[in-house]
Amino acid sequence: MTRPLLVLDDITHRYPGATGRPALDGVSLTVEAGRTVGLVGESGSGKSTLARLALGLLRPAAGTVRFDGLDPYRLRGRADRPARARLQFVPQHPRASLNPALRAGESVAFVLRTHGVPRRERPARVAALFDQVGLDPALTARYPRELSGGQLQRVAIARALATGPDLLVCDEPTSALDRRVQAQVLDLFTELRERHALACLFISHDLAVVRSLAQRVVVLRHGRVVEEGTAARVWAAPRHPYTRALLAAATGAPPEARPRVPPQKSRAPAAGTPLLPTPPHRLPEDQR
Ligand code: ADP
Ligand code: MG
Repeated sequence: MTRPLLVLDDITHRYPGATGRPALDGVSLTVEAGRTVGLVGESGSGKSTLARLALGLLRPAAGTVRFDGLDPYRLRGRADRPARARLQFVPQHPRASLNPALRAGESVAFVLRTHGVPRRERPARVAALFDQVGLDPALTARYPRELSGGQLQRVAIARALATGPDLLVCDEPTSALDRRVQAQVLDLFTELRERHALACLFISHDLAVVRSLAQRVVVLRHGRVVEEGTAARVWAAPRHPYTRALLAAATGAPPEARPRVPPQKSRAPAAGTPLLPTPPHRLPEDQR
């Protein structure tokens, strides 16, 4: 029944000028149509790098990325917009990805415009998208500064849904939210996935978050996949000590009950490490 939609095959990526181990080292991962894969690992394990590769923002040093048979890195021109529309991104920090000078509804309408939706159809489409993500359509008139973190994340999700995607790449979309709002946004993802048969690559450092959403889980450590399996199996019977440590962290088990893993070297990001860059299919007006 299922078919592979996003396929990363034996990807290695090294940032220019970086020394030491590559950010990703021989990583393979498949997201099937309509399914959610959870990608989990500590900060610095290579999750955002993998997201950028999947979205075509980076070209891997070795290996291939295919989105429905196409190379996302090459989907850049106007003629590629229909294919681009099928692959969308939900960021960790929607406040930084939304233009502060645009009302929330205008941000969503702009995406529709770029994808050729006639002006007269846009207001109804925007209202429907707000409704879909659980926002009162009256909030279309608000500016980002007038919205809460949870509301902003819903606007970001509405923008991603505006093009009718087949796949969402979500990079820690709930990490900046408090627990209660995080749970609500996770419920929204579950609902959207079921209602729209959306596929999702859902990234989090928190195994509990990933478990609640994903059918499959891939565990990344130091740029390598150390474990992969169904979410139920990985949660109930993690095989790799690193996964067990992530599980202990997610469940709040006391440290003495946690399996020993070699301590990770301190890997604070280098000064000036850029945030996830704006995807090329974002629009100039959205750039800040
Ligand atoms: P995660 O999202 O899991 O925290 P990242 O993919 O951001 O991990 O980072 C993986 C590794 O690549 C880290 O060692 C990080 O310091 C490094 N890295 C990330 N972005 C850059 C960049 N733009 N230039 C150089 N090194 C980077
Ligand atoms: Mg990251």
